[in-house]
Amino acid sequence: MAQDHYAILGVDAKASADEIKRAYRRLALATHPDRHPDDPVAEERFRQISAAYAILSDPAKRARYDTTRHLPEAFTGGQEMNLQTAKDLLSAVFGDVLGRQRRQRKRGRDIRYTLTVDFAEAVLGTEKEIVFEALGACSTCGGTGEKAGGRGPETCGLCGGRGEIKGEGFFAPWTPCGRCSGMGLIHQDPCKDCRGRGARRESRSFRVRIPPGTEGGAQRVVKGQGEPGYFGGEPGNLLVTINVRDDPWLRRDGHDIHCELPLSLGEAARGGKIPVPSVSGSVNVEIPPGVTTGARLRLRGKGVPQERGRPGDQIVTIALETPRLDALGPRGGAARDAYEALLTELEKLETEHPKLLPRRASQRDKG
Ligand SMILES: [Zn+2]
Ligand SMILES: [Zn+2]
Repeated sequence: MAQDHYAILGVDAKASADEIKRAYRRLALATHPDRHPDDPVAEERFRQISAAYAILSDPAKRARYDTTRHLPEAFTGGQEMNLQTAKDLLSAVFGDVLGRQRRQRKRGRDIRYTLTVDFAEAVLGTEKEIVFEALGACSTCGGTGEKAGGRGPETCGLCGGRGEIKGEGFFAPWTPCGRCSGMGLIHQDPCKDCRGRGARRESRSFRVRIPPGTEGGAQRVVKGQGEPGYFGGEPGNLLVTINVRDDPWLRRDGHDIHCELPLSLGEAARGGKIPVPSVSGSVNVEIPPGVTTGARLRLRGKGVPQERGRPGDQIVTIALETPRLDALGPRGGAARDAYEALLTELEKLETEHPKLLPRRASQRDKG
């Protein structure tokens, strides 16, 4: 038994040419392979619909099909309907319908936002509220762009729904249609508050989660929080780029955090508890007596937290800071003279007791 072309198009055997055409358009658009990529079932259905229409739209072929349709050897049109011929048939009958459909539903634009956070916030993770001016769905029309009870959008009369217009001459380029802004559609009854755009500029806010260990330049994509689409198209995304402020003391290297700890001669010689900056605030660190410049102390677990496993460490590098005598003013000033007197005292003791600075002493002896 051959295919029932009427059943395929979902029409009665007595259907008018117009009814057949309408059914073909609706079904061909619904099953078109451009809308169902890699879907063999839709493709087969699309070919059947096209084959049925090729016969039923031609009065002579339809008459031959009608007289033979209940016979085992029904008239088939004699031609295989492949995918390309099926697509060509649709554009021959209705023009570039699918291109027009695509233009009508345009995705909204992405919104980009740069969020600057402190070094410690990026390392430990945080949540920030961002507030920005952007297009949001118009609350009056709910984003449709049409006023309540409106007649719905119509095809743009200037470009015929293509969204673009060809200039004069065979080689003239296509340019976006100025009347419909390339949409191919125009609201007959636009919403007064958004003038048909379906969107209004408004203040929007959004909470952004910054996971622990976030590095500068990282991007968070919040799906669907961009500008609303046009004529029912999907909204764009909100793209938040994280910018991390430098910290005056702390620097990140992978999972570890590095810092330098300046010490006075007295602190370095005596050791003891010294406050050290860290991402979780100042921590008191026990400095061993006699520590030297370049010595490294490791603060376990004070680095970058990890999703799995133990956090990184903070590495503290000791740097002895040499006094700047000029800061006390010129010689003759009370503070400067007092400090220099103490230095002279120190030097005396250091010479008397070479074991205080053994490396220095042994080099001077040889010299
Ligand atoms: Zn509106
Ligand atoms: Zn237009």
